[in-house]
Amino acid sequence: MPELPDVEVFRRLFEQKALNLEIAEVAVNSPEMLVGIEADAWRSKLVGSQFTETLRHGKHLLTALSGGAWVVWHFGMSGFFSVFARMDEEPPHDRVRIDFASGSRLGYSCQRKLGEVGLTPSPDTFLKEKGLGPDALDPSLDRSSFVRSLSTKRGTIKSALMDQKLLAGVGNVYSDEILFQASVYPGARTSDLQEERLAAIHEAMRRVLQQAIDAGADPQAMPEGFLLPRRESDASCPRCGGSVEKKKFSGRSGFYCPSCQSV
Ligand SMILES: [Zn+2]
Repeated sequence: MPELPDVEVFRRLFEQKALNLEIAEVAVNSPEMLVGIEADAWRSKLVGSQFTETLRHGKHLLTALSGGAWVVWHFGMSGFFSVFARMDEEPPHDRVRIDFASGSRLGYSCQRKLGEVGLTPSPDTFLKEKGLGPDALDPSLDRSSFVRSLSTKRGTIKSALMDQKLLAGVGNVYSDEILFQASVYPGARTSDLQEERLAAIHEAMRRVLQQAIDAGADPQAMPEGFLLPRRESDASCPRCGGSVEKKKFSGRSGFYCPSCQSV
């Protein structure tokens, strides 16, 4: 599922390939992916306009239109953008396609249709409506505000990191990586963690997300010592060589090393 680093990679692709180009045509192949707006209304907002800037907040990408509104993109479990020129290059699960006057096309694919595409007057309006917490890489989410907001949480540390109302951008995969790097057991009760361990999780969160972006969110390009390319039971732990285990935490399957991650 696309998380903060993946969506940041999508944002950079969008910046490179979709800004300041006149939108000639829009195809809505799966109208049910649009939230809060009819396909015709959405289409007429885009055609003749241009995208002028991008903003990522957690797992959401917002792209400004020269007409004033912002298109909101969420990638669900399997969404991604592709850029192509010829129609025979269109991916099979393209739900929305934007054709630019220049001849290039931007496709939004989402095989399982769990993503969402919408329109909002402004990023502030959207963030308030969704009740999203600060982006996990926002400088305002510093060590002390991170510790303060987590110290009020009940439940496991893994579910706290994945709570988008607390902080936005971390999901199942990166919560595992952050806790592995911080040597914290995913099932630890957040309220049992001392301040210095929460601070270590904050430090790991910043480092892991930035390193994952630097790796283009490609599992095979992650730094040595990442758990991410070894998300399978009985894979060997990159730190101690022991067995990686899979277990459900708050209903989500997590991967961890029982030797390296203590409560
Ligand atoms: Zn280990």
